Amino acid sequence: MPESRRKFFAENGKRRILIAEDEEINRALLCVALEEQFEVLAAEDGGAAMEAIQANRGSLSLILLDLNMPVMGGMEILRAIKEDPSLRSIPVIVLTADRAAEVDCLALGAVDFILKPYPVPEVILARVNRTVELFEDRQIIGATERDLLTGLYNKEYFYRYVDQFDQHHPDTDMDAIVLDIERFHIINDRFGVAFGDELLRRMGDRLRTSMAERGGLAARLSADTFLVYCPHRTSDIAELEEVMGALDKLLDENNLVRMRMGVYFSADKTIDVRRRFDRAKMAANLVKGSFTRHVGIYDDALREKEWQAEKLVEQFPAAIAGEQFHVFYQPKFNILGDKPVLVSAEALVRWFHPEQGMISPGVFIPLFEENGLVRELDHFVWRTAAKQVKAWKEKFGFSVPVSVNVSRVDLYDPTLRENLDQILEENGLTAGDILLEITESAYTEEPEQIIRTVSDLRESSFSIEMDDFGTGYSSLNMLSDLPIDALKLDMSFIRRAFKEGKDTRMLEIIIDMAGYLKVPVIAEGVETEEQMQTLKELGCDIVQGYYFSKPVPHDEFEPFLEKKKEDQ
Ligand code: C2E
Ligand code: CA
Ligand code: CA
Repeated sequence: MPESRRKFFAENGKRRILIAEDEEINRALLCVALEEQFEVLAAEDGGAAMEAIQANRGSLSLILLDLNMPVMGGMEILRAIKEDPSLRSIPVIVLTADRAAEVDCLALGAVDFILKPYPVPEVILARVNRTVELFEDRQIIGATERDLLTGLYNKEYFYRYVDQFDQHHPDTDMDAIVLDIERFHIINDRFGVAFGDELLRRMGDRLRTSMAERGGLAARLSADTFLVYCPHRTSDIAELEEVMGALDKLLDENNLVRMRMGVYFSADKTIDVRRRFDRAKMAANLVKGSFTRHVGIYDDALREKEWQAEKLVEQFPAAIAGEQFHVFYQPKFNILGDKPVLVSAEALVRWFHPEQGMISPGVFIPLFEENGLVRELDHFVWRTAAKQVKAWKEKFGFSVPVSVNVSRVDLYDPTLRENLDQILEENGLTAGDILLEITESAYTEEPEQIIRTVSDLRESSFSIEMDDFGTGYSSLNMLSDLPIDALKLDMSFIRRAFKEGKDTRMLEIIIDMAGYLKVPVIAEGVETEEQMQTLKELGCDIVQGYYFSKPVPHDEFEPFLEKKKEDQ
């Protein structure tokens, strides 16, 4: 091993890296992801980070740097590192929720970005590995508009150059193309990051030469995704398939690699650049995982899909008026005791469309959030749920509260509290009868505004459940100040913990954290006995999921109430 490299290894033979992140839960998350492969130093504020950097001068392989920290911000640290010749070459990955900071940090010499909320641990590890290898294998090439590994443009610059290109060549017929390596993460895992990097480098070389010949632009968008903007040459799919087959061979003689391409031919220059490439991405997804096809085309079928989405939006008023929306209920059980006890239900909306049958909210809620229609839909769901609670109260003699989803759009409605109060009053209910679920990401997007709104709701005695918890990036500090009454763990934690090679460490961290905050934890998406038992052992309070029941219409929910009545 050359002398210059040896210093990167600590006594235990591991490379030393520094995590500078003030938020405890985030720091824990990164440590868990990285401590197996690295010797991890952690700093909890900018001052401690700077001290650690000075103290480990010459032995740090990488710094993961949070932009927002007390004492000294990430930008300031980045600047200090880059101004010090003996620190300058340490690669820095910036951690931020603010996409807009990207260009600034790249200009200051950060080599990569991890956007919050954090991706899964495997992705973090792969990114860190790649950067560390890169740093040791080659000199930093300085030019910030280029991706370090492939030398292609990075995406910010790429989009900018595409706009410029269009201005200079308004009449050239251009294709928007997305290229992807199939299951790249598996290739990386199985054959090593160095092999993966070599593939990406080859890909970069190939694209560069080809763009030089054809007069187009190429960029690396993310790990293994490339964007190409080039003059239209052929619409012959068979020919493109051949090109892709040849590319597979060129990247690796042993046929380990399969590329995938999505093309939006003769892209419409009147729509936003990103949207043009979104269309190419939709096309690439058409052939995802296919063994026979490499090339997907943005065609009439996809145009139709986009159009369908627009149509659903147009049909909304008629659907509301025509009572096509129905509310389903999914039970939540307290699992702390010997027997599970029904404690509440979640109201989930369904659209019974006259032509399309039942449409899932996963399809239409995002569309309705974009244009604010979700407010009207939510009001309908809240009203329906309130009426239902009242009806059950009368029928069974006790109240089982129902939680409703409050979309982020609702939170900006100044009449929100008034509306909810009114719904309670109309049905003779109290605030304990309707619980409110608010997604964590709403809190983290506009914390001050949301905290004000939520505190206001709590003054009316509403209980607030933080939904999708773990997908935002609330800090422990922030959480302890937040007005919440329960944490609803995002389903992905359950999925991740119980996939092959069960690993419940993250679950434990989160449940412990909720314990510290003294709020109950609700786990959703619980499907199996094993998951239920494990959650129980970890001290999770409440469980919702197919294990107990799918969301069902109100009449099918009644047996749960009858059972509860018998048990009382
Ligand atoms: P969410 O609030 O996180 O709701 C949980 C979703 O998980 C529901 O999907 C539910 O059916 C599903 N689920 C529950 N248990 C299991 C399980 O064991 N396994 C699996 N695989 N899935 C399970 P659904 O009903 O399709 O709703 C999707 C999302 O749509 C909801 O996610 C929520 O964000 C939104 N949504 C649904 N109804 C409303 C509503 O009335 N208003 C608003 N604003 N959003 C709603
Ligand atoms: Ca929910
Ligand atoms: Ca959720």
